[in-house]
Amino acid sequence: MTEVENCDVAIIGAGPSGAVAASILVKKGWNVIVVEKESFPRFSIGESLLPYCMNFIEEAGMLDTVIDNADLLGFQFKDGAAFYRDGEHSSFDFNKKFSDGPGTTYQVKRAVFDKLLADRSAEIGADVRYKQEVTGISFSDEHATLTVKDNDKESAINAKFVLDASGFGRVLPRLLSLELPSTLSNRKAVFCHMEDNITDTQHDRNKILITVHPTHNDIWFWLIPFSDGTCSFGVVGDVKYFDENEELTNEEMLDLFISQEPHLAQLLKDHKKTTPVNALQGYSSDVTRLYGDKFALLGNAGEFLDPVFSSGVTIAMCSASLAANTLDKQLRGDKVCWEQDYSESLKAGVEVFKHFVMSWYDTNLQNVIFFHEEDNDVKGMICSILAGYAWDDKNPYVAKTERRLAALVDICNEEETSL
Ligand SMILES: Cc1cc2nc3c(=O)[nH]c(=O)nc-3n(C[C@H](O)[C@H](O)[C@H](O)COP(=O)(O)OP(=O)(O)OC[C@H]3O[C@@H](n4cnc5c(N)ncnc54)[C@H](O)[C@@H]3O)c2cc1C
Repeated sequence: MTEVENCDVAIIGAGPSGAVAASILVKKGWNVIVVEKESFPRFSIGESLLPYCMNFIEEAGMLDTVIDNADLLGFQFKDGAAFYRDGEHSSFDFNKKFSDGPGTTYQVKRAVFDKLLADRSAEIGADVRYKQEVTGISFSDEHATLTVKDNDKESAINAKFVLDASGFGRVLPRLLSLELPSTLSNRKAVFCHMEDNITDTQHDRNKILITVHPTHNDIWFWLIPFSDGTCSFGVVGDVKYFDENEELTNEEMLDLFISQEPHLAQLLKDHKKTTPVNALQGYSSDVTRLYGDKFALLGNAGEFLDPVFSSGVTIAMCSASLAANTLDKQLRGDKVCWEQDYSESLKAGVEVFKHFVMSWYDTNLQNVIFFHEEDNDVKGMICSILAGYAWDDKNPYVAKTERRLAALVDICNEEETSL
């Protein structure tokens, strides 16, 4: 007979959204089981955090743990974002942002960062189980039942509510046919970790460096330094650019793209790769809805946009906080509206990032970022969004993103052509 357990909340996946949601719910007194397919530490891409996510780390009772372990685990202090395009530099200092709140964060190796958060959620009281895979879900009037596979053994968990934090595993979107193709283009990323051996004194290790390809402005590179002299490095572009060189291995492909960008080629001339070069393709995804009776989708299990503004972990943690707080009220018997309290609240910020992503790839936002005659107030507002404060509707570029951004693009493009 299949073993059946009961809990208040079952969470699928122990990544950032799962660990943060688990901790918030446990702190509110709920009994939480987290089911994780892998054993931690495990590799994950997405190492540059945004300052806004520090609020959710704090809400989950994890801030001291993160700060106390930062040096030991090689987390790199981060205070902004630097951009480079064909001889032009631009830099955003997150402490000069428009919105209130933390202005600094870290760049983290996700294997150890995710383990730190998951361990902390277990310390707070979540029951975190590794090497167990969720393979099915069914619903009754009383609960949702997860089928869990542990090697060849199958068991079941009855939960009053299930949060799907399975990231690109997208467990409930697949099982409940909620998957929707993203409206964003099909792009690919090729990446690795490396000893960067950068000696250029102008290079600021406290900032992520985003470099635009000199001839194809919709191709860009990330360079995310860690504090131990290594970095995460990758190139992103439409799959067509990679298909043109399909005979190349991932490593040859990465080296080819580096050689095409003289500034990066010089900066990384002495680099030594420390991990195999990997590739991910078609990662942008969407869903028909973010919640249903007895379940909600968090982080990448819902919508994933694009790596360009490092918004993934921040959106994942924001979704965890919104869903955990809505669920806490529901479990206490208060009236909640998942559409308003969760879905619309989350999407408000996601849509802001989406406009930024689209405007980056059509290169209009690049012209704003590299604009020389910048106004400091406007720069502070753009900076806020780059720092993750995409939900602060006091910021005019959040409240009316599309209209404001279009007007700003016009000003920058006009002044640039009149110079
Ligand atoms: C190329 C690229 C670069 C990126 N760069 C950045 C960046 O610089 N900064 C940033 O913030 N974001 C970045 N992101 C996005 C970021 O990686 C994700 O948004 C983030 O990891 C989402 O967190 P999550 O908790 O939703 O999911 P995840 O971190 O993916 O965690 C999901 C967990 O669920 C587990 N799981 C999956 N299936 C099952 C199952 N069936 N049963 C049990 N467990 C399961 C997985 O093993 C995993 O541990 C990048 C993404 C890409 C593709």
